Amino acid sequence: MIKVGINGYGTIGKRVADAVALQPDMEVVGVAKTRPNFEAETAVEKGYPLYAAIEERLPRFEEAGIEVAGGVEELVEAADVVVDACPSGIGAENKAMYEAYDTPALYQGGESADLVDVSFNARANYSEAADADHVRVVSCNTTGLSRLLAPLQETYGVKKARVTLVRRGGDPGQTGRGPINDILPNPVTLPSHHGPDVNTIFPDLNIDTLGMKVPATLMHTHSVNVQLEEVPTAEAVRDLLAGESRLFLVPERFDIDGAGKLKEYAMDRGRPRGDIWENCVWEESVSVEDDDLYLFQAIHQESDVVPENVDAVRAVLGAADADESIERTNDALGVGL
Ligand code: NAD
Repeated sequence: MIKVGINGYGTIGKRVADAVALQPDMEVVGVAKTRPNFEAETAVEKGYPLYAAIEERLPRFEEAGIEVAGGVEELVEAADVVVDACPSGIGAENKAMYEAYDTPALYQGGESADLVDVSFNARANYSEAADADHVRVVSCNTTGLSRLLAPLQETYGVKKARVTLVRRGGDPGQTGRGPINDILPNPVTLPSHHGPDVNTIFPDLNIDTLGMKVPATLMHTHSVNVQLEEVPTAEAVRDLLAGESRLFLVPERFDIDGAGKLKEYAMDRGRPRGDIWENCVWEESVSVEDDDLYLFQAIHQESDVVPENVDAVRAVLGAADADESIERTNDALGVGL
């Protein structure tokens, strides 16, 4: 069994812990938190050994009546691999600790690409993470774009991708984020950081991205235009995308008109926390005009990187090849709507 430690138990960390716990070849050796809040109590209830991310704060957990297994360094030592799901920038501060214990670490999209040996997406470049000590699972948006662009690139060749990302202002629990009542070009200048981030996975891809922020918490939405080398029919593109295990083609008959109904569907399907691990591509939006492909996709920012983190664990340890890992992860989680 692969022993996985999770440092940073917030939006991403708690989901990764639950996903790891479901894998037949992995166990959660512990999770580290900074504060004894509701998530700390839930972690203990789920049976995850809880470690104090900041050792001096150990007494605060004890005062709150929460049992703590030790300090974070003990967790790093006990783990075969650590998933660092701390807020942006904290992963970089933690790097020396992972190195000191010779424990490979997976960071999240909020960290800089320069921090790591390789940026990772299971569909696009799984094998590049083999034996790497520091791997960055790219952000929710870059994950969503990589999953879509990989099969298009392989099958038709991509001349140029142009994507406008309409981004949720914050996650449901991020009460301090916004805008509350505005529509922001964000950033106003081109490109948004997403295009260069996609280039950490596809170095030669020609891509321009524009970002906007809107008063929503549910999902991001991408308006995608990809100019292709070989021109397929829209039907052929739909078939290609339907064959990808982490793309969900939203059927016209479902009458799903936006992120609200997508989330409702996920909850009706009994998804934990209403999570949607797959890109949601509106089937009838897939159109080809001359050599331009157009489509809309929605990305659940809180959960699409979760299966990718699970695959990255196997990738760095050489525990499975890409196809085996993706299938194992998908089966254990129930990916595929
Ligand atoms: P979050 O704030 O929900 O969770 C981070 C957790 O880390 C919190 O519980 C916080 O208390 C804890 N923490 C803070 N300092 C710590 C420390 N020194 N040691 C250990 N834990 C510490 O953040 P999140 O949304 O889960 O984001 C985590 C990372 O994932 C970031 O890099 C982010 O960019 C990336 N990411 C976030 C999303 C998203 O939409 N939420 C999507 C993809 C990637």
